[in-house]
Amino acid sequence: MINAIDGPAASGKSTTAKLVGQKMNFLFIDTGAMYRAMALKAYKMGIDYEDSRLIKNIMLATVIDQKIDQDTGDTVTLLDKVDVSHEIRTPEISKGVTAVCEIKEVRDNLVEIQRNLGNKGNVILDGRDIGTVVFPNADLKFFMIADVDIRANRRFKEMQEKGMSSSLEDIKADIIRRDDRDSNRSNSPLKAAEDAILIDTSELTINEQVEFIIEKIKERS
Ligand code: C5P
Repeated sequence: MINAIDGPAASGKSTTAKLVGQKMNFLFIDTGAMYRAMALKAYKMGIDYEDSRLIKNIMLATVIDQKIDQDTGDTVTLLDKVDVSHEIRTPEISKGVTAVCEIKEVRDNLVEIQRNLGNKGNVILDGRDIGTVVFPNADLKFFMIADVDIRANRRFKEMQEKGMSSSLEDIKADIIRRDDRDSNRSNSPLKAAEDAILIDTSELTINEQVEFIIEKIKERS
């Protein structure tokens, strides 16, 4: 069974998908983390995020993968076999990822990896284009939205818990910038699939979001 969750930045997609995955024993694939890993590689090599020609070339020699950590149940992102799950969450990488993910070859390569992982069995994937491009025939599609101030506050708390310092204003500005760029790009823009179920998480707890999706999965299976 293939389940897709799309939506704007910090709408709760990953947290929800991770918990649904753990409860239903589905593989959770965090596609945003893959684009972030590619941005991290560019950053480490000192390459301008907008230098699509160079990034396209280094993509050819890059291996990005995801697996489940058997101890924690978390999805781990591997860049050239190294766990970069934490490093990819910094404001610097959030800044660069929106440019890197627009490069056609980067998208083609990562979409292929996502499809290969997804076709392995029961999965839940979160991203921007899962229900529209990666798995247009997904069994269930969800599109999560929430008020931008609520999203910024949630992300602010999350970053604080991880010991990363960023102001609420900067986080909100980054969310608005990313949503705008993701929605307006020509290749695989952020948008809801016509058959997606809309979930506004502004007033929902994580538990409520998770239970809502699990109910839909159970109805469907
Ligand atoms: O999900 P997350 O916020 O970590 O994604 C980081 C960025 O990766 C997004 O802002 C977007 O630019 C890009 N992305 C994408 N397609 C996806 C997932 C993420 O373009 N399927």
